Amino acid sequence: MDEGLMKTYGRTEEVFVDGHGARLVTGDGREFLDFLAGIAVSALGHGHAHLAEELRDQVGKVVHLSNLFRHPFTELVATRLCKLTGMGAAFFTNSGTEAMECALKLARKAMHVRGTPERTSFVALTGGFHGRSMGALSLTHSEKYRKPFQPLQQTTWVAPDDIDALAAALRDERPCAFVAEPIQGEGGIRPLSTAFLQAARELCTATGTLLVHDEIQSGCGRTGRFLAAQEAGVTPDVVTLAKPIAAGLPMGACLATPALADTFQKGEHGSTFAGGPLVCRAALVFLREVENGLLDNVAARGAELRAGLEALQREFAMLREVRGRGLMLGLRVHHSGEALQKALYRSGLIVNCTAGDVLRIVPPFVLTAEDVQDGLGILRQTLAVFPGCQSTTPPAA
Ligand SMILES: *Cc1c(COP(=O)(O)O)cnc(C)c1O
Repeated sequence: MDEGLMKTYGRTEEVFVDGHGARLVTGDGREFLDFLAGIAVSALGHGHAHLAEELRDQVGKVVHLSNLFRHPFTELVATRLCKLTGMGAAFFTNSGTEAMECALKLARKAMHVRGTPERTSFVALTGGFHGRSMGALSLTHSEKYRKPFQPLQQTTWVAPDDIDALAAALRDERPCAFVAEPIQGEGGIRPLSTAFLQAARELCTATGTLLVHDEIQSGCGRTGRFLAAQEAGVTPDVVTLAKPIAAGLPMGACLATPALADTFQKGEHGSTFAGGPLVCRAALVFLREVENGLLDNVAARGAELRAGLEALQREFAMLREVRGRGLMLGLRVHHSGEALQKALYRSGLIVNCTAGDVLRIVPPFVLTAEDVQDGLGILRQTLAVFPGCQSTTPPAA
């Protein structure tokens, strides 16, 4: 198993070879319900006919050009993303981590442009996750990810929703940027409060700090709005996107407000592969679905799923809390989430476990009402026989 691979991941024994919608199929014909979507990525699910058709067509034309040559799709994706986010310009990347690197470099450069180049440090949140490159890892809080790779960039940590601590950090540290996920993903599906998001916006403006929102997981419509922070009416200076943006192809974007759109000059940042015709065509397929009402499905299925999870929470004492919005939900359990995640997997439901005790539920945006009911059914059956999982009420007939 895993021959020739570095040991960074634990993989399933099953080999997955096919899929349709929110269903995945193994080589020996077993079907799984996919409530993880390749870690919050596969927005259009698996085997999406229109995506396949568009990609086949594009592969027969131009796959790669580099950023030295113009291609219509690259600009189309950029302008659509700017319109959906209120930003002024995009830099494309191949991953979320790279989008974060772009945001961090942009923050440093913006301070040079303003004549405050000494403002080099960052403020970030405990529990935050922004990637694993040396820069992005510097803002990722988990000791497990950081420890063997020190020294990293200077970061000051603030607890989520602690407005006073943020105010003090911005005043005392004079960082170039404050970086936060509006809903922490890896940290256990923890939404920041509206009051904190709004206060952070005001404090950043008052102290000349760039507000960077990492919406790599929460963005692109996963919560039912294109950006999670739009719910709080907050516009950041810089926002990063990735995971679902090209329906499974590797793509990320760093977007900046019109005022910061010209921060980088020619040659100051770059990528050989990013923003190419193939991924941009996939992104256009995704964005067209968004324009055609896909996020209504996210909101409707998300509400059904949340209601079902809350009903289970009332039934099973083992379930502590349901968190999140849209199709970015967390189910916090007593004890280890991993054992329950494994039991669900054996019953044919794919989710994962973050922050030790939270089941992360981030299904494809094309989830159907039947998928929701099937998933809740598997959860209920699994909980009913799960060791130590006491029902608080007798199971319904
Ligand atoms: C996944 C994730 C990243 C890193 O993205 P990669 O594509 O894995 O590089 C960064 N920030 C958040 C919030 C994420 O969920």
